[in-house]
Amino acid sequence: MEVVNPATGERIDTYEEAGDEAVERTLADAHAAFGAWRERPLAEREELIEAAAEVLRDGKREYAELMTREMGKPVAQAESEVEKCAWVCDHYAEHAHAYLEADHHPSPPGTAVKTVHEPLGVVLAVMPWNFPFWQVFRFLAPYLTAGNVGVLKHASNVPGCAEAIEDVLRQAGYPEGVFQSLLAPSDLVDDIVADDRVRAATLTGSGPAGRAVASAAGDQLKKTVLELGGSDPFVVLDDADLADAAETGAWARNLNGGQSCIAAKRFVVHTAVYDDFLDAFVDEVESLAVGDPMDEDTEVGPQARQDLLEALHEQVEASVEAGATVVTGGDPIEREGAYYPPTVLTDVPAGCPADTEELFGPVAAVYEVDGEAAAVERANDTEFGLGASVWTEDRERGERVARRIDAGCVYVNQLTKSDPRVPFGGVKQSGYGRELSEAGMTEFVNRKTVWIE
Ligand code: NDP
Repeated sequence: MEVVNPATGERIDTYEEAGDEAVERTLADAHAAFGAWRERPLAEREELIEAAAEVLRDGKREYAELMTREMGKPVAQAESEVEKCAWVCDHYAEHAHAYLEADHHPSPPGTAVKTVHEPLGVVLAVMPWNFPFWQVFRFLAPYLTAGNVGVLKHASNVPGCAEAIEDVLRQAGYPEGVFQSLLAPSDLVDDIVADDRVRAATLTGSGPAGRAVASAAGDQLKKTVLELGGSDPFVVLDDADLADAAETGAWARNLNGGQSCIAAKRFVVHTAVYDDFLDAFVDEVESLAVGDPMDEDTEVGPQARQDLLEALHEQVEASVEAGATVVTGGDPIEREGAYYPPTVLTDVPAGCPADTEELFGPVAAVYEVDGEAAAVERANDTEFGLGASVWTEDRERGERVARRIDAGCVYVNQLTKSDPRVPFGGVKQSGYGRELSEAGMTEFVNRKTVWIE
């Protein structure tokens, strides 16, 4: 596995890819570790995840720079990502007891009926490069604390992050085998999923990757959680605070180089405020600082890989050919590295890539709609259903519109974000199942009924 720094195009590291033997050793170690791990008192597993939070905080700069080198995330955003990972660890250290001991049903008279939450065993996590620490901690904090053991197949362009995460847990004091990174190519994943020792799988990534893992797991009747792409609408109604919407919208589209499943991608704007919003939004987008991701002041770095930049540009070119107008940006930046400028498209015709596909980079599609009903219709006119954002000064109207949008989460007067305290996940082609909060912690447990007369 070769790691290329996307800011420079230079090869910076080489890792040995795992083959069949390494897969066998990893699964055997994971399986062996499960027996003792599930018997550890929950309080001890909570202490260990709290210790992981401390290791993360102590190594914040080092982990942030590693992410930046491997996938180009601006280093200030990478530091925030490490802090957020520590937060999700804190969250489960504090709440795991309550989540796992929650019993939401009455006992019939004369009985004691309990739901106990028991771990399933080895869970495979197939994870992407865009938030190379967060996506993994979002998985491991609840599931390891619930008593499962984890095997991570991370994206092939961030092997250093995968190994660093394994090391965070080692430093925190986790026993051998409870969490392992397996630097395996994706063509070994089907066999790993099919292995008897693997009890469930979770994947965050593209639709094709999700379908591949879900098919392999379905064939063996194993549970999956899938967090796939999105084409999130950002709805600006006629009574919105336009300055706030424009500033937050520009950030929601462009943070992490636009490479986020819950980034705002389609801006659906009421005709009464369309011109004013577009002017303010383009000003905000053009003011973003694009540059070296190691520079503290950089807001938009390079795309994570050259091939991803090329795929994005093809989507933009096809959309323009179909009739879309480029208001700003629209061509790769001529400099060393995989840089694409923050771009705004208008007049986006139905059926072109900017309209129907996920644009995983800093490209916004802006639509003009004639009223609230048309905004809802446009927002829902997508095969995806991950997140959405609605802007209005009227909170009741905001809730009414939010309830009519087909998505896993809708934020009113805020950008869509994940938060350890609330469920996260999608509907339609954005996947199924939930991560984070109590809902996320109980996806991969046996909710066992114990009935005592
Ligand atoms: P992928 O979905 O291909 O990669 C995500 C993870 O899935 C990686 O670990 C990858 O491994 C693995 N994977 C890929 N194909 C398979 C397969 N057939 N079976 C099992 N595992 C597989 O994303 P890309 O990096 O190729 O990015 C392409 C597009 O995916 C993006 O442009 C974006 O639209 C979407 N994406 C969405 C993300 C999200 O957060 N929802 C995150 C990343 C990408 P390997 O790296 O070894 O191929």
